Amino acid sequence: MSILDDILFNAKSAVNEVGKKANVFVDNTKLKFNAAELRGELKKKYEELGRLVYLGSKEEVEGCREEIDACIESITEINTQLKNIDENVQVNCSKRKCPACDSFNPKDAIFCNKCGTKIVGPTKSDDIQE
Ligand SMILES: [Zn+2]
Repeated sequence: MSILDDILFNAKSAVNEVGKKANVFVDNTKLKFNAAELRGELKKKYEELGRLVYLGSKEEVEGCREEIDACIESITEINTQLKNIDENVQVNCSKRKCPACDSFNPKDAIFCNKCGTKIVGPTKSDDIQE
């Protein structure tokens, strides 16, 4: 396995790992941590892509085209994951959970739409679970 394969493999498993977590509801701290990790991965990918394009144009490197394609695919994948995470963070921020029945209410709700319990205090998004 080449170094490049290693990089691609690691990025892939990082994405898959976050993808799995995105399916279950995780709190904003975790989401933001994952997003930061993905952004770091994305930066590496862009650097890798730049290097591959440079090598490919400088001389005929065998398999370079496939590596570039794989790199672009990973970047697209990471961007999709980042978008998912951003959406989840937004949903977290825009909902307020009822302390009595656990149903979700608008952020500015004072009383629960479902059971009428008074919802007070700041949103504890960490407690929100789907
Ligand atoms: Zn309620």
